[in-house]
Amino acid sequence: MSDSDNLFLRIIDREIPADIVFENERVIAIRDINPQAPTHVLVIPKKRYRNAAELAAADAQLLGEMVTVAHQIAEQEGIAESGYRLLFNTNQDAGQTIFHVHLHLLGGEWLGGLTGGPIKG
Ligand code: 5GP
Repeated sequence: MSDSDNLFLRIIDREIPADIVFENERVIAIRDINPQAPTHVLVIPKKRYRNAAELAAADAQLLGEMVTVAHQIAEQEGIAESGYRLLFNTNQDAGQTIFHVHLHLLGGEWLGGLTGGPIKG
């Protein structure tokens, strides 16, 4: 994927609109366009890494910052106490569709078990 095809870089550059809930020099957070829970936010590093493992190997501090940002957003959304789920999808079987690492923050209701999705056909 070239950077010009990278949806998240285009959102960071304000070429594509998004509901931005947090931004600093290194990280941006946006509401997911197809929310899977009452709160569904994507925490995205501005620098592109393909997945969480690539990010962790290159910049573990940034990975930690993403978790801290997610918790701050959970507090803003009023779901830090009731609970939330943080999730990285990696590659096809996990359903990763955008190969610029992003941390899903989900909450606002009982989220159920981890493997509730349909069996892959
Ligand atoms: P993945 O499946 O790669 O882990 O997650 C990609 C996420 O990006 C999906 O939850 C999807 O709904 C979200 N998404 C895809 N296109 C857009 C968009 O244009 N704007 C926003 N805000 N989210 C998007």
